[in-house]
Amino acid sequence: MDLYEYQGKELFRQVGIPVSDGRLALTSKEARAAAEELGGEVVVKAQVLTGGRGKAGGVKLAATPDEAEAYAQDILGLDIKGHVVKRLWIELASDIAKEYYLSLTFDRGVKKPLFMFTTQGGVEIEQVAAESPDALVRLHVDPLEGFQPWQARRLVYGAGVTDPSEQKQIAKIVGQLYDAFVRFDAMLCEINPLIVTPDGLVKALDSKFTVDDNALHRHPAIAEMRDAEAADPLEALAREKHVTYVKLDGDVGVCGNGAGLTMSTVDLVTFAGGRPANFCDLGGGGSAQGVVDALSVVTSDPQVKAIFFNIFGGITRCDEVARGILQALVEMGLDLPIVVRLDGTNAEEGRRILAEAAPANLHVSPTMLEAAKLAVELAA
Ligand code: GDP
Ligand code: MN
Repeated sequence: MDLYEYQGKELFRQVGIPVSDGRLALTSKEARAAAEELGGEVVVKAQVLTGGRGKAGGVKLAATPDEAEAYAQDILGLDIKGHVVKRLWIELASDIAKEYYLSLTFDRGVKKPLFMFTTQGGVEIEQVAAESPDALVRLHVDPLEGFQPWQARRLVYGAGVTDPSEQKQIAKIVGQLYDAFVRFDAMLCEINPLIVTPDGLVKALDSKFTVDDNALHRHPAIAEMRDAEAADPLEALAREKHVTYVKLDGDVGVCGNGAGLTMSTVDLVTFAGGRPANFCDLGGGGSAQGVVDALSVVTSDPQVKAIFFNIFGGITRCDEVARGILQALVEMGLDLPIVVRLDGTNAEEGRRILAEAAPANLHVSPTMLEAAKLAVELAA
């Protein structure tokens, strides 16, 4: 789950990372009131779940409450990379002497959290990595050992920060960022820019914070932060039905049981010359209702032209899945072509149930490859 800047900054504040004082505003009047309350120059910032807001005109400095209101008016409703601005963060403006970059994310290849730090902040990090890779210091943390203070010093010296006060402040923030990452089950914590003010104070001017969806049950306050309106309606439906769903851009709907089988099903559709419309894992249970739920999510995508339903029964019983498919066909009046491949526990029973009902749009295929080819054909 991605957090808005202001939500990420709230978590930063909780671990002690310095951030500016600010207020949330949903209207231009609220933006004015926030500016009045904060007093002094403020920055009016679009809250959208994407980066590059500055370049898109979503970040403006306002000297007076009048100006804050006018900018708020401009920014509210702005479309930034497909995200419409409905919330603003009004914060006390900072003077900037330097812009650095600090992030912590997972390096899945190495199976360790990875810090990245550079004094070339403010711009997109991919650009720094491409144009001046030497300026980007990378450092892995062993999750079992945990964060060690020398690691912060290595980052700071490695990037060439020479001012002792800056070194000290940044080293502290590095430790606090690791704290936040672990404490809130984050998958990404990014500060870009991490600024130094002319007075030599270091603080987080932006926040990108992603929390692991699977850990949200441990963080009810963070789970509450989700903006249901901003979520993709299909993903929201899937979440509600406890179906693991990822939207892709093809036309063959893919349902399987278990992430591994579903992934190979996606691969197989591609191998057969088709394009998967999604990845949908109905999990290990595969109850009739689970099948109905998964199909209702997949068929809510208008791009889906045919469905490939691939089940290997272990704990899942194929007869139960077959009943679920038939139930879904009836309940949902589903008339898209469905290709079903059943194997494993009670597969014969499952196939028999489907053969007896024999709806016109349902095709049973004995192997994965044949099923994939047929589904691709039917989607064309
Ligand atoms: P992003 O474009 O979505 O990454 O949004 P940021 O929060 O990083 O803001 C973009 C840029 O606006 C920053 O890199 C700063 O240069 C500038 N900016 C943001 N807040 C302030 C501020 O308080 N004072 C000044 N002078 N500039 C700011
Ligand atoms: Mn930024």
